Amino acid sequence: MKAIHCITFAVVGAAGCASYNIPSQVGGVRLAGISSSAVEVYRPRFVLNEGTLALEAYAMREFKGQTSPDSHIDIVYLDGTGRKVAEERANVRPHNLPGSGRMPRPHAYFKQAINLPAGTASVEVRAHEEPHGN
Ligand SMILES: [Zn+2]
Repeated sequence: MKAIHCITFAVVGAAGCASYNIPSQVGGVRLAGISSSAVEVYRPRFVLNEGTLALEAYAMREFKGQTSPDSHIDIVYLDGTGRKVAEERANVRPHNLPGSGRMPRPHAYFKQAINLPAGTASVEVRAHEEPHGN
């Protein structure tokens, strides 16, 4: 009986570790979350979503942060020199985040498939309060 318990525990432990493995497609690529004055980007992570590379993160309203309809999150791909290779918009609407009057803070979780452009050395998930001029 004791042995069976040990085996069960080991299997659960292995599964827990596996879910935190970094997908091989992004080996060496740095990932950072960059918060704005109103929105915090928390725990960005590369994940495999049914074999497809995806990015997940949490967005939270900063304490007393004032979002606007222009609030959004950009996924920015940079090369080894820090030059922007590509940029896309995260599929989350931080403007609609609830206020943060309690703990744990309310948040929005998002996950979306991404394609790493050739030459990508790092990915930044940036909260951004200004509209893009295009
Ligand atoms: Zn932006």
